Amino acid sequence: MPARPRRRIGLFGGSFDPVHQGHRALADAAMSALGLDELRWVVAGQPWQKSGRVLAPAADRVAMVEAALADAPGQRVERIEVDRSGPSYTIETVRALQAAEPTDVDWWLLIGQDQHANFTTWRDWRELLARVALAVAARDGVEPVPSPELAGVPHRWQVVPMPPHPASATVIRRRLAGAESAQLLAPAWLAPGVADLIERRGLYHPVPAQPVDRPASPDAGPVNDRVSASSGVPQQRP
Ligand code: ATP
Repeated sequence: MPARPRRRIGLFGGSFDPVHQGHRALADAAMSALGLDELRWVVAGQPWQKSGRVLAPAADRVAMVEAALADAPGQRVERIEVDRSGPSYTIETVRALQAAEPTDVDWWLLIGQDQHANFTTWRDWRELLARVALAVAARDGVEPVPSPELAGVPHRWQVVPMPPHPASATVIRRRLAGAESAQLLAPAWLAPGVADLIERRGLYHPVPAQPVDRPASPDAGPVNDRVSASSGVPQQRP
């Protein structure tokens, strides 16, 4: 009897503050290039590398990712990091998710070139490399190249071929803070459903609107409040 093909699961972590069309472009490209059976978007609760910046509440970031994935079969939100307290370390997430699945699964971790360049600052990165293969996308025209330290450790990785996408969460936040309408960023940078959520919840704008559709009780677990985040330099999402 022919062996059953191994399932392929991708993990795509980020603060998604907010989720944008560059994230979707990377995810969609990886789905087809890697032949993934499923892709889980791991919304970070408290990214360790983002100290010094206030993130939007986890409940809002989760809702935005759900809206962005409304038309993405096989892709869904993974809540594990927003449902636990403390900093988000990818190695802990991967250990927990792998323990909950059969062993005959190929795991892929999706990252952009900027995260790849810092990979050896991630907690227990050698163990991480033993557990997952890396799927890396170019960003801002920069092709991924493993650092000498990373290259010194045998591991599986491949580039995700995708047309460059210029969207950046930092730029989006800056434009919205300048009172620009989120609708102007849709659909090129923001999915229309995400732009609607941003407007309705008054996210990233200088004077937040009254929330109209947020549940009375927090639905994002212990990390529902605003959390500290840094400049976006990835050191400890991982
Ligand atoms: P910020 O500007 O707040 O740092 P970000 O979009 O870089 O936002 P995350 O939301 O944490 O940060 O990104 C999640 C992942 O998506 C990272 O691995 C990042 O490299 C990748 N990524 C983000 N935008 C793009 C893009 N335009 N093209 C390719 N990869 C991207």
